[in-house]
Amino acid sequence: MTQTESIPTFGLYINGEWSAASSGATETLYNPANGTPVAVTARATVADVDRAVAAARHSFDNGSWSDVRHTERARIIEAIADLLEEHTDELAELETLNGGTTLRKSSWLDIPVGIEHLRYFGELARQHPMRPLPFIDFPMASSNAMWREPIGVCAQIIPWNYPFLMAIWKIGPALAAGNSVILKPASLTPVSALRMAEIIHESKLLPPGVFNLLTGAGSTVGEHLIAHPGVDKIAFTGSTDVGRHIAAVAGRNLKRVTLELGGKSPVVVLPNADLDIAVDGAIWAAFMHSGQSCEAGTRLLLPDSLHDEFVDRMVARVEQLVLGDPMDLTTDLGPLVSAAQKRAVDQYILLGLEEGATLRCGGNAEEPELASGHFVRPTIFTDVNNKMRIAQEEIFGPVLCVIRYHTVGEAITIANDTSYGLAASVWSRDLNEAQEVAHAIRAGTVWINDHHLINAKAPFGGYKDSGIGRELGPQALEAYTEVKHIHTDLTQERTRRIWVDVVAPQLDASFTEMAEM
Ligand code: NAD
Repeated sequence: MTQTESIPTFGLYINGEWSAASSGATETLYNPANGTPVAVTARATVADVDRAVAAARHSFDNGSWSDVRHTERARIIEAIADLLEEHTDELAELETLNGGTTLRKSSWLDIPVGIEHLRYFGELARQHPMRPLPFIDFPMASSNAMWREPIGVCAQIIPWNYPFLMAIWKIGPALAAGNSVILKPASLTPVSALRMAEIIHESKLLPPGVFNLLTGAGSTVGEHLIAHPGVDKIAFTGSTDVGRHIAAVAGRNLKRVTLELGGKSPVVVLPNADLDIAVDGAIWAAFMHSGQSCEAGTRLLLPDSLHDEFVDRMVARVEQLVLGDPMDLTTDLGPLVSAAQKRAVDQYILLGLEEGATLRCGGNAEEPELASGHFVRPTIFTDVNNKMRIAQEEIFGPVLCVIRYHTVGEAITIANDTSYGLAASVWSRDLNEAQEVAHAIRAGTVWINDHHLINAKAPFGGYKDSGIGRELGPQALEAYTEVKHIHTDLTQERTRRIWVDVVAPQLDASFTEMAEM
């Protein structure tokens, strides 16, 4: 990192070295809360992608990381986590300045949770030697071993909403399994991942080429990476539309692919829910990070019996939330990430009104002190029908759709009436009933009396249009490995016996003759 006009300037990280983009092109990033410049990044070209793939390929093929013993890989990943932890405050500040999430959240959740998850991936490397004990199959007189091997070069493409956490979810399991990686953060919010790369670089803990980072546009850097013949696996987190495109390209080239995509998660409040807990839970589910979370609970399903009181209480509490400078520790909600994202959310609020929903609170933030940032008030629509576009499409902003239901069966039908299946939550004092509803919802994660809580030991990912594959948990490591079976014939002659006894007995004589010669 160099300092230009008091803002940091970052290059591309390729083969253990920092360099400018081959074209020299750069991009200035601005604080979404007030429009001031935050950092300058390099805009990689296709030639830079080729360089990064060649470096990753070389490091993988020469075994500088893939052949390192799993306990040593674990030690190094844990040492990187320790170093990142020493920089928690700095990373949290960068996360807030670049992406607009509140400093309260970035310093207490995003960065510490990311570091904790990296430690978990180190532990995974330690616990999974990738070489389970072989077994002897007596009837076949063979010894059999199932090996897990790293896949190779992984292109890892991430979105703008949780830049540090998403970077860790990608590089953690890939490195734990022995792969070489090329990380491409979203061009809007690469700063915390770039600082992480600097910390890794200074540590000299990874051999050159094992970890590379490219900044630049999805349409050039991302597009070239996903089709590159030197890439073995694509791991993508982002929108469902781009995910479909990546799946098609990966399919044509038969590359391994995992996709973590969008969501429209239901929050199902059952009739005997504790109202105090569920009201705060619904607010947390919908508005954490101003709704810019893939798992955000954006469809609130309320029974007739609770609907009116629930909405009144929720609106009263939401109106107390403080929007403002995310660096201020008293701020509850920061801005959206960009002017384009704010425009998209504003359009959806207009659409909700056109579709006949009732706007109970929210919309544009009118305060003059918020005018230079991309602020949208937490917005609640009631009288929403699940067929409306605001109930079906991912808005990715602070917009909650309240849908009324009459029976629990109807609530389950509405919860599942979506193309997405990333997450859901169920709120009830009756844990047995909540469990039954949780089983009936087709989603990768269902929280009971909770939302958003991500446990590193549990897999996370989507059903339906929310993706393919899982991150976190032991499944994350599996997603970065190939499985190999090595069969050893302990008799050392079975193949010959099968060949001559079963397939070509007439050859027996010639074998015997050859043996006698
Ligand atoms: P996006 O799909 O626009 O971009 C994601 C990444 O893909 C960026 O790095 C972008 O540069 C790159 N990209 C864009 N076009 C590409 C192409 N043609 N080829 C290769 N790469 C390309 O998504 P976004 O707006 O950055 O993020 C928001 C989306 O991410 C939401 O839909 C959200 O639900 C989803 N998301 C999902 C999860 C999850 O775990 N399921 C987590 C976070 C975000």
